[in-house]
Amino acid sequence: MSPKRRKTKNSAAAKTKKSALKLQPTILVPHEELRAYTMAILRHIGSTAKEAQIVADHLVDANLTGHDSHGVGMMPRYIQNFRNGFVTPNRHAKPVRRDGAFLQFDGQQGFGQVVAQEATDKGIAKAKKSGLALVSLGNAHHIGRVGTYGERAVAQGLVSLSFVNVLGHKPTVAPYGGSDGRFITNPICFAIPGTDGLPPFVLDMATSVIALGKVRVAMNEGRLLPEGKLIDHRGKPTRDPRVMFSEPLGALLPLGEHKGYGLAYTCEILAGILSATGSIQPKTPRTGGIINNMLSVIFDPVRLVDRNWFHGELKALAKHVKASRPSDPKSPVLMPGDPERATMAQRRRDGVPVDRTTWTEIRNAGLSVGMTAKQLARWNT
Ligand code: NAD
Repeated sequence: MSPKRRKTKNSAAAKTKKSALKLQPTILVPHEELRAYTMAILRHIGSTAKEAQIVADHLVDANLTGHDSHGVGMMPRYIQNFRNGFVTPNRHAKPVRRDGAFLQFDGQQGFGQVVAQEATDKGIAKAKKSGLALVSLGNAHHIGRVGTYGERAVAQGLVSLSFVNVLGHKPTVAPYGGSDGRFITNPICFAIPGTDGLPPFVLDMATSVIALGKVRVAMNEGRLLPEGKLIDHRGKPTRDPRVMFSEPLGALLPLGEHKGYGLAYTCEILAGILSATGSIQPKTPRTGGIINNMLSVIFDPVRLVDRNWFHGELKALAKHVKASRPSDPKSPVLMPGDPERATMAQRRRDGVPVDRTTWTEIRNAGLSVGMTAKQLARWNT
């Protein structure tokens, strides 16, 4: 492989004199190579070819959509969790309840990408047949980019509304008005199908002002974060991403003050408590792993309204919203899901940027599970 080498752009933030962060060079890696690299490591810990493909595809697609926080940079953490017994290869979503529209699954601490896909696909099948499914998945290892599951539903013409809570490690997100972490980044995803000429609406976001993985990416790249994202261990504003990764820990702020806080709280109840796994209250173990619980409501919109009228309204609404004069002439109004589609097209063509620190960490993860330097030689950079 010959990844193209390029320097990370120097941001004004990173030049401020307070920062001791060092800018890291990034390499551009073709997505096919990243898939092969990730799969090779997963196969080495015993994942079947199918599982390795699902997890690798999910991670690389997260990079392609621009969410490096949920891409291959998660592999070192996954390998660490495997070594600590917090994720077990080749586990499947175990049905624990089936009651009318209600489907409940135990993820058995299997790879989240596998068990969440399985649970979602059961919900999709149910909603296709009877119009509505409520899918509850508990005890999954990290399920990654939640939009992935919403996209599976919209591909079948269905609407999906997902709420996720995060357990397993110390809280990282402060409640509105608080000064230390009480939640983790509890994401939500609302996905609605598109129609001819109109792509699907996919709103997929953390309920913190920024995803924790993006703070890790900034730290690895040596960048300061913009104002208003972080507080330090005293509850004071800071831009230094390292406060989230070394003691004494700081915290992320909730998205939109009391509003994101309210959504994060909702995720604890709908995803954590109603999956029968639990919320982030102190008695829930903080082992150092990553557990996700998810509640998804999946339904067929044309059980409520006429299909043609629905599609016409979707188009008219998008046209209306996007016609707003851009406040910055270079940035037109977008629909949720547009940035990911644009980044996907560009990165498929140009390669995925991976910073040197992340690349070394992934390589070390491979070595730690017994891959040899010779096996990894194909990916020397
Ligand atoms: P983000 O802020 O990059 O994007 C959030 C949403 O806003 C997306 O739907 C995007 O399409 C939309 N958007 C972005 N810019 C837009 C614009 N200019 N106009 C219109 N819409 C726009 O996302 P995030 O909050 O950083 O989350 C990143 C990823 O992290 C998500 O995929 C999320 O599922 C994932 N996540 C997962 C976990 C977990 O525990 N599994 C936890 C937190 C976050």
